[in-house]
Amino acid sequence: MGTHVSGSGYRGHMPTPDPQAAQPDRPGPLELPLADAGLHRQDQQRQRPDWLDHVWSLRDTRVLSLRDGLAPTCDHRLVLTPAAGPLPETAVYLGSFREDSGHLVAVSLSGSPQGAAAEAEMPLSAETPPAHAADGDHLEGPAADAEWLDLRDVGHRLGALDAALLTQAVAVTTWHRSSPHCTRCGHRTEVRSSGWMRRCPHCGTETFPRTDPAAITAVVDDAGRILLGSAYRWAAHRYSTFAGFVEAGESVEAAVVREVAEEAGVEVDDVRYLGSQAWPFPRSLMLGYLARTSRPEQARADREEIRDVRWFTREELRDEVASGRLWIPSRSSISRALIEHWYGGPMPDAEEEPAG
Ligand SMILES: [Zn+2]
Repeated sequence: MGTHVSGSGYRGHMPTPDPQAAQPDRPGPLELPLADAGLHRQDQQRQRPDWLDHVWSLRDTRVLSLRDGLAPTCDHRLVLTPAAGPLPETAVYLGSFREDSGHLVAVSLSGSPQGAAAEAEMPLSAETPPAHAADGDHLEGPAADAEWLDLRDVGHRLGALDAALLTQAVAVTTWHRSSPHCTRCGHRTEVRSSGWMRRCPHCGTETFPRTDPAAITAVVDDAGRILLGSAYRWAAHRYSTFAGFVEAGESVEAAVVREVAEEAGVEVDDVRYLGSQAWPFPRSLMLGYLARTSRPEQARADREEIRDVRWFTREELRDEVASGRLWIPSRSSISRALIEHWYGGPMPDAEEEPAG
């Protein structure tokens, strides 16, 4: 099979939408809503044992609170609060706006109503009101006004820095909640490196917040159509690109070919990398590809995971989505970005499913 891979992460703005044009494999750019926005992660500093205490004591440090993965937002911006009181056990260092100031810390709150009430009543100094990450603007009013939302629902509406901040915070706090014990001896581990490592006091094993690579692929044919599938676990009218985890010992390119063949029955012979996106549900790294097939007639659903597969021209998909007859993934997802990359611009708004 003549699979080859080319290209790298493209950045920038979409070309003017041109649904009439048949450009099944246009090169980038692929615009991704949760892309890293250049937050300084300070990976050297955060290894200092006293780093979090130091950061917590600074007046311009801001805290992003998460409750069961939900973040406080207001007008599509994150609501950040000053660091107050003792350093919480769940604190994780995220990074800084600038090289040496404007530090950001994530804190996981209890999911209980008591936890929510405590957050709403968090005292705010008039000199250090809550601020948005995106531009440092100050928000009038208490955090009690905030709406607590899921990254999947709000990610595409946030500014680039807010989105990157929330993605990182969800990823690392989820890891702490799900991995409290040593993978080698089962002893409870202790947090190190400002929240970026856990160490076992019994056997010394160190663990880090790893990610699982997953390939996600938009399949196109020579006529400029896209192949989408509907999985059994979704609503029947929801269609998306094809995705699957990279297996142990497998390359991503091989995973693309295997997943598309398994789920959609199609042999692809041209696989191009377009970009990646962290998707911390719970810990995926989505690697986006465009793959071409010269045998579109092979398409058939596997009937195990995928209920149906359909080829769409741009006009067909646009009309189906605009009418609400067909749902595609949310704007926060790389799947949506791949579909719109093929389409040549944003798809029309219609009924959107809440989660990608
Ligand atoms: Zn251990």
